[in-house]
Amino acid sequence: MATNNKSNFPLTASITAQTFKESIIKHLNATHGTDINKATNRSWWDAVTSALNEHVHSSLSQTQRTYFENDTRAVHYFSLEFLMGRLTGNNLHNLGLYDVAKQALNELNVDITELVDEEEDMALGNGGLGRLAACFIDSLATMHLPAVGYGIHYEHGLFRQEFQDGHQIERPDSWREYGNPFEICRPESIQEVPVYGYVETKFDDNGGISKVWHPGRVIKGVPWDVPIVGYKGTNVNILRLWESRASDFFNWDVFNAGGYHDAHKENVEAETVSKVLYPNDDTDAGKELRLMQQYFFSACSLKDIIKRYQRVHNDDWSHFSTQVAVQLNDTHPAIAIPELLRILVDEYGQDWDYAWTICRETFSYTNHTLLPEALEKWSVRLFEKLLPRHLEIIYEINQRFLATEVEAKWPGNDLVKSKLSIIEEGNERMVRMGNLSVIGSNKVNGVAEVHSALVKTDLFPEFDALWPEKLTNVTNGVTPRRWLKACNPSLSDLIDRTVGDQWPTNLELLRELDKSADDLAFQKEFMAIKHDNKVELAKVIKELTNVEVDPSAIFDIQIKRLHEYKRQHLNLLHIMALYRRLLQNPDYDMHPRVFIFGAKAAPGYALAKDIIYAINKVADKVNNDPRINNKLKVVFLPNYRVSLAEKMIPAADVSEQISTAGKEASGTGNMKLALNGAITIGTLDGANIEIAEEVGIDNVVIFGLTVDEVKAVNKAGYSPWDYYYGNPEIKAVLDWFETDYFTPGKPGELASIKHSLLEGGDPYLCLADFDGYSKAHQQINTKYTDKRGWAKSAILNTAYMGKFNSDRSIQDYVDRIWKLKPYPVKNA
Ligand SMILES: *Cc1c(COP(=O)(O)O)cnc(C)c1O
Repeated sequence: MATNNKSNFPLTASITAQTFKESIIKHLNATHGTDINKATNRSWWDAVTSALNEHVHSSLSQTQRTYFENDTRAVHYFSLEFLMGRLTGNNLHNLGLYDVAKQALNELNVDITELVDEEEDMALGNGGLGRLAACFIDSLATMHLPAVGYGIHYEHGLFRQEFQDGHQIERPDSWREYGNPFEICRPESIQEVPVYGYVETKFDDNGGISKVWHPGRVIKGVPWDVPIVGYKGTNVNILRLWESRASDFFNWDVFNAGGYHDAHKENVEAETVSKVLYPNDDTDAGKELRLMQQYFFSACSLKDIIKRYQRVHNDDWSHFSTQVAVQLNDTHPAIAIPELLRILVDEYGQDWDYAWTICRETFSYTNHTLLPEALEKWSVRLFEKLLPRHLEIIYEINQRFLATEVEAKWPGNDLVKSKLSIIEEGNERMVRMGNLSVIGSNKVNGVAEVHSALVKTDLFPEFDALWPEKLTNVTNGVTPRRWLKACNPSLSDLIDRTVGDQWPTNLELLRELDKSADDLAFQKEFMAIKHDNKVELAKVIKELTNVEVDPSAIFDIQIKRLHEYKRQHLNLLHIMALYRRLLQNPDYDMHPRVFIFGAKAAPGYALAKDIIYAINKVADKVNNDPRINNKLKVVFLPNYRVSLAEKMIPAADVSEQISTAGKEASGTGNMKLALNGAITIGTLDGANIEIAEEVGIDNVVIFGLTVDEVKAVNKAGYSPWDYYYGNPEIKAVLDWFETDYFTPGKPGELASIKHSLLEGGDPYLCLADFDGYSKAHQQINTKYTDKRGWAKSAILNTAYMGKFNSDRSIQDYVDRIWKLKPYPVKNA
């Protein structure tokens, strides 16, 4: 394999395998107290990360100094989740040191792929939203843009998934149990955050009113910095994650009063705030601890930003919004809006209108979902208990907004006012975080064209009428460094040889591959790489599930959180239909197919867990049925996460993107798979629409109801029973769920799925889309049989995915929202 072109990586051009090896050995001894004879895999990994960090840390200091000396405007990406995955391979690649490290380790008889497998994923997120944040901070650093990621330093990330007799079991994730070499603790930047208590109204001698919040307790935020290495290593940005601790101040009070036990209890409670990531992909509204997490990290981050701002500007707030942009990743950090207002008004005595203008110029908000259950609301009661002053401020923001802006546009219209109000009236009054986010932001974006259109027409139509410029679109993207260069080295090497090696920072260059799409030799090479990747994945499948799969079968992959709207159960219905066709007709014409799943279900989401169980039970039966001649296999890989995605995606022939139209905001898994040459079978939903436009309608297989058709069906009154009685195959498959065919001796174990699709009303229209889906799969089968046609389509998928890189997304944010300038660091 070609080594990296040294001129691409001037910073590390002088590092050779020999010098890197010496550095590893030095750190094995001097830093980690062992030697080459005793070193375990873990110590080798430690030593490699130390050798690597020499370069990371020096660029980190220079980058931060450059930003400070230039007093740069910066974006601050607030996100409750950062799904980082592993960092060793990524950082080696981004510094151009991967091949050097590989050779150095080889000379030390250590296999680099085994070594990087030592690393626990940093899984501080659930799925797409958290992974997007991780791709974005990679792009920001690569594009030399001043940026800080802010989030929570969860002690336990997303749970580890195991299967017991096909059931999902959740085990705690302990990603830093034995330390993590990529994070740096910064005690000098600790912040304190007040919570609970009451608000006192004070009158001054002139009859003026001020508010004083007397908090009930204080939580300490300890920052941990993870260096984010841009490609080529020029700029290294920071991801700053806050860990909660009990405030010393509070503890000692209680402790000195003789309450050791109570002091300890306060400690435990404070530390609980950053203890675990909520494992729900949509919402956890209602949980006090969740609101506490949101406020804790937003408040720590704002204080951190203000401290940095004041080093230059002291108490002159007139430059704040020109220096500081804050992007809210969903409504989770929306509490930052009233928090900034509170700081400016209560702590720095600024005029309300002035402070509010600064807030609105500072914040922007990204909407990620239209699902009603995922739109955050907090009860006024809970707010009042935890954040009494913020509740007052929200009331005031709301009252002024309704009385001025809404009244001017819709005089006397109480209906519009009740829709746009931050407060929802009802049995229990609620604070609507979506409305707060729109009202307090200067831009609001959806994450794919169709999604942003629906945000305007269905979710926030009145806000769009009020502020026609505010709602906009930024289509998501994925970083090609992790999702092609690092995860698929053989394909990357072929691309280097075909279009040159500049594509990792200019993905549109892949377009040149279309000239080779008809070339037989190139097709063979491209498909040989796909086959090799499938051989590798087959080994992983064997290791994890003990199922043997044939790499010459079609690898058909659905990987994403388990959710009804993503319709893993539609995939399952079709698999069962195929199985039945094979049982009824052993000569049924199909190329052998392996259906591969990866998905975690939220622990409290019963139906999602039932779907996992059903797929596992059907898999058991199908995989051990000699009658079907290995034409069909089903595997569910446990513990889907970033590092497993990196092994699955390069091996995919088919990418399942089958959400009900209008439900998936964008999707990013669809982008990763197509980029690696998988052909999408998908609905016209989220970014699938734009992918189809880019790669061409001949190179995807589209089926199912459109957004408008879904609306029409629901309006007319949808009855799944029509499909049950109208299509004998659907009836047979659904009835199968009630038997003990897949769960011998235990009939009814899978009945909840049938029930949800019939009595439950099939809210995601699986049965309505079944026939189209089934025909789309026949199209896939026919297409695959034409080897050259398939190869051409696969190549064109890779070639035409340039738009979907996260550098383009970030450039859109820069142009439309952040107005940032790049500062490439001149390294010594
Ligand atoms: C990309 C990614 C996702 C998002 O997948 P979608 O198909 O867009 O829902 C979720 N989890 C992991 C680990 C990912 O890498």
